[in-house]
Amino acid sequence: MATKLFIDGEWVEATGGSIATLNPATEEVLAEVAFAGKSDVDDAVNSARAAFNNPAWRDLLPVQRAALLFRLADLIGAHAEELAELETRDQGQPIGVSRAVSVQGAAEHFRYYAGWVTKIEGTTSPISFPNTLQYTRREPIGVCALITPWNFPLMILAWKLAPALATGNTVVIKPAEQTPLTAIRLVELAAEAGFPRGVINLATGDGSTGAALVEHPGVDKVSFTGSTAVGKSIVRASAGNLKRVTLELGGKNPSIIAADADINAAVGGNIAGGTLNSGQVCAAYSRFYVNKKREDEFVEKMAAGMAGLTLGSGLDATTQLGPLVSAEHLAHVERLVATGVPQGAELITGGARAMDKGYFFEPTVFAGVKDTMTIATDEIFGPVLSVLSYDDDDELQELINRANATDYGLAATIWTKDLTAANRLANGIRAGAIFINMPPIPDMAAPWGGFKSSGWGREMGPYSIDAYTEVKGVWMHYGE
Ligand code: NAD
Ligand code: MG
Repeated sequence: MATKLFIDGEWVEATGGSIATLNPATEEVLAEVAFAGKSDVDDAVNSARAAFNNPAWRDLLPVQRAALLFRLADLIGAHAEELAELETRDQGQPIGVSRAVSVQGAAEHFRYYAGWVTKIEGTTSPISFPNTLQYTRREPIGVCALITPWNFPLMILAWKLAPALATGNTVVIKPAEQTPLTAIRLVELAAEAGFPRGVINLATGDGSTGAALVEHPGVDKVSFTGSTAVGKSIVRASAGNLKRVTLELGGKNPSIIAADADINAAVGGNIAGGTLNSGQVCAAYSRFYVNKKREDEFVEKMAAGMAGLTLGSGLDATTQLGPLVSAEHLAHVERLVATGVPQGAELITGGARAMDKGYFFEPTVFAGVKDTMTIATDEIFGPVLSVLSYDDDDELQELINRANATDYGLAATIWTKDLTAANRLANGIRAGAIFINMPPIPDMAAPWGGFKSSGWGREMGPYSIDAYTEVKGVWMHYGE
């Protein structure tokens, strides 16, 4: 029996049939999931609109709205192990990652934004008009469509849902078709937490469901995390009613390893940063600019570290590298990796799919990579690392130019003990997050998002409060 949609506080059958979600480690069907057709999308948007105008939500006091978010965080905590196992089954990520990153990260997001509800302040402005008070209010935008990808389904949904609710919006959630199960469970928990009917709606389905939401005149804002190609289509499709749009898109993130770097730390951090969730991380480091003096040592140690990773089902606690999410994505990774050797790169380790069952890919290292090769320019989103090099006498500016020679600008990392060089590189690289001597770890308190084709806007910290509110100025004349 297929799962249902959640619309206006009820679990209802979809008119669009269903779509299967698989366990990528076993290729078995986990569930048939409701497929929201156009009329279901209409119902979900109408429900969210009615809830937005309903005093039961609109007039909640900040402390009451905060209490709902705190309760949902507690419910995530109470069901942490169940959610972690569900995420691993549906997505493939190692159970330790599910527990520590996905589930704990989601709960912490709800707590963090629950704390914000009572701290969303306005300003007063020193206008040059006599006897008039001018102040600002931050008001919710309205109905928000939250469209999420398959790599961190629960956590990325929390990145959006927590601030959207904290600021008083209502939502329609559209999870990725490959990994909808933790979103469905989260919505059940949110209903248990006591959010008024219609505030949270769930429209599972595929890209066509997402497209119906993006085109819908009843949607005021779209927050999307996913591919750059779909992000561009969302910008075009949202023009009808000039929706507010936040986009977190792809990356091809450089990691610079200077001659004075602590190579063991760089190897450990880069393997962590390059292979977390099998490299299916938007901020994954995937192109390495290594000082020629350390190139051989770096390649040798990276290859040994990569080849030593234990592949397997994410449910096995010893697994370090789970499967890729789907057969389609495995084919995408294989296609890009296949360009490496013909274009002149040297395959040091890996390079092929692994295991008899499941969508596994070997941890892969290429050396001798040149800037224009496909494996240096295209987002692979797999456990594939491309090592390039630079000469000692190359100017830092040249390194900055090479790092910036991409349409993306999400993240970058620099491994060096020279803080002057680190800061020059950090200032010169056009990316939303620069990490110095560490892996790429988002944190709810710090801004997240991309320059250039890696996105629009920022999420997290106070930036998400901006992203989910409109500013209203009120002018009140009080005398002669
Ligand atoms: P995707 O763009 O194919 O799909 C993402 C979501 O959009 C899914 O829910 C999908 O059903 C929906 N969708 C597809 N077509 C749509 C359309 N025309 N209109 C509206 N919605 C549509 O992306 P993916 O393959 O699931 O995710 C991988 C991508 O996400 C990578 O490029 C990765 O870099 C990026 N990503 C970015 C971040 C970040 O924070 N910047 C985080 C995670 C993933
Ligand atoms: Mg799945």
